Order: sequence, then C-alpha cells, then structure tokens
Amino acid sequence: MKIYKFGGASVKDAAGVMNVAEVLASQDFENCLLVVSAMGKTTNALEIAVKNYFDKENYQQTLEDIKQAHIAIANGLFNESHDIFSEISLFFDDIISFLRRNKSPNYNFVYDQVVSCGEMISSRISSEYLVSKCFENTWLDARDFIKTDNNFREGAVDWELTGKNIAALSKEKNYVTQGFIGSEENNFTVTLGREGSDYSAAIFAYCLDADHMTIWKDVPGVMTGDPRKFQDVSLLSNISYEEAIEMAYYGASVIHPKTLQPLKQKSIPFFVKSFLEPERPGTQVGNSTKNEETEMK
Ligand code: ADP
Ligand code: ASP
Ligand code: MG
Repeated sequence: MKIYKFGGASVKDAAGVMNVAEVLASQDFENCLLVVSAMGKTTNALEIAVKNYFDKENYQQTLEDIKQAHIAIANGLFNESHDIFSEISLFFDDIISFLRRNKSPNYNFVYDQVVSCGEMISSRISSEYLVSKCFENTWLDARDFIKTDNNFREGAVDWELTGKNIAALSKEKNYVTQGFIGSEENNFTVTLGREGSDYSAAIFAYCLDADHMTIWKDVPGVMTGDPRKFQDVSLLSNISYEEAIEMAYYGASVIHPKTLQPLKQKSIPFFVKSFLEPERPGTQVGNSTKNEETEMK
C-alpha cells in the first residue's frame, strides 16, 4: 500500500485536479490511498466565514463566494449534468443550516464543523474526476477512521481506535480521502491543526504499514531553504527522519512537524516530490544519515 498526499497548491484549480491524474498516470496507481487538502486557499476563506459569523457580519456572502469558486472549478472538470454540482450546493446548504441552528459559543467547535468542508468538497471533486478518467477509487470520509479527543482545532489522535478503524480497509484498493480532519467520540468534526494534511497522510501510512508515502508539492523537494524566500537554495536528495524533524521544527514549512514521527517509528520511506515534475526523484527521507545535495536545475 502506498500513500500519496496532494496539498492545496496541487488542486488549486481545474488544471491542478487534471494534473493529479497526470501524476497518477506517471506512477502506478494501484493499492494507493490519496489524501487531498482543501483547494488552494479555501481554508483561509472558510476561516473568514467563521469569523464573520461570530462578528455578526455577512458570513452567507463569504460562503457563497467559496461555493462559486468550487462550482467554477467543477465546471472545468465535469459536464453540467454531473451530480457533483448538487453535491457542492448541499455541502454549503448544510453549513448554513448548521450555523443558523447553532447555539454553541465555542469558536473552535464551530470552526471545525465549518472549515472541514474545504477538504470534504475537494476530496469529492478529486475522487469523481479520477473516476471519470478511469482511476477507479473509493471515497472515504476520514472522520470515520481518524478518531481524536475533543480538543477542537488541534485534535490529539486516539491511535488505538484509529488503528482499529484503518485496519478494516483493504490493502488492494484505491482510496481518496481528506487530510486535516478526524472526529471525536460524538462524531463531531475535529481538525488536526493548520497544514495538518501531511500529518493525516502519515497517520494512514502508519496504521496501514504503508510501503511508502509521497507528498506532492509545488517545489522539487526539500531544499536547503524556502525557494520563495531565498534564491541560492539547492535540493536535498536524501535526508534522515531526524534531519527532517529538525528542519520542520525550525520552521521549514514544507513538511508539517507532526508528520515525521509516525513514519520514523515504522521506518516508512517518505518522499517529497514535485507535482509539476513527477518523474524527478525529489527528496527521500529515511533512516539513512547520508545528506547528499544536488544542484537545483
Ligand atoms: P501544500 O500545502 O500544497 O502541501 P505547502 O505550501 O505546505 O504545500 O508546502 C510547500 C511550500 O513550502 C513551498 O511552496 C515552499 O515555499 C515552502 N517551503 C518552506 N521551506 C521549504 C524548504 N526548505 N524546501 C522546500 N520548500 C519549502
Ligand atoms: N487545508 C488545511 C490548511 O490549509 C490543511 C492542509 O492543507 O494541510 O491548513
Ligand atoms: Mg498546505
């Protein structure tokens, strides 16, 4: 079994979703579990909707804009009679009726119920698009598998329950699911902290004893520094779990800090690769302490 994680940047528009299929075509799409983040900056936009709700501002308009952005993406991927359009509308109807009925003053609780919608829609669109391109897959609601405490916005994983749930999955199928979300004992949604989709992928990798895990990014791999901020950076082709943990700890935002520990514990080979150049080797993170640097081309 292998785990692939596609982050927000990789599915920011219709071309991005199409490119996910290209990436899968360049690999072997068999016994694969795909973890998908919210599209582009959707999570930031949903955060604003929650803030507007508590500030008694026009949160409905913010949600309407987010809905239209998803419909525009779906228009680039499906013909207009596809069921995905009514599904997208239903997600937003559900959020609005939840917010109208809600009496809880708990900001973090409300945040998790609303913001998680980004991953739900993104994973539904991606799963359906892949099916339409003959990448057969079963869509999973990650909240049925990843169980947490009720520390909303920063859920702590209940590894025993989560492990039991994930063990029920077949290792001979393809799945598409969401990053970033789990659920507590009453089945309310709990998010795992911003940028937590890498961590979700590692949770599935750990519980499935995956052969390897790859996170597909908009950079060639882990570099000596953030290429957005520094010019003179090079690709690290091979780093150890410890080196990656240290880099994540010191703020290299390319890998979520909680991601490495589960992978290290089971020595699961971990790759950071470019979704724009999937044939390139990227960075391999493993037990090796050899730290080779190659020039970035
Ligand atoms: P996604 O959420 O799409 O999975 P992220 O935006 O979280 O991806 O991570 C990719 C970004 O991490 C890159 O665009 C880059 O700007 C940033 N980054 C920070 N430090 C590094 C680094 N050392 N090497 C590579 N990218 C880095
Ligand atoms: N969508 C969430 C966020 O933007 C989780 C993730 O992308 O990793 O924080
Ligand atoms: Mg991200």
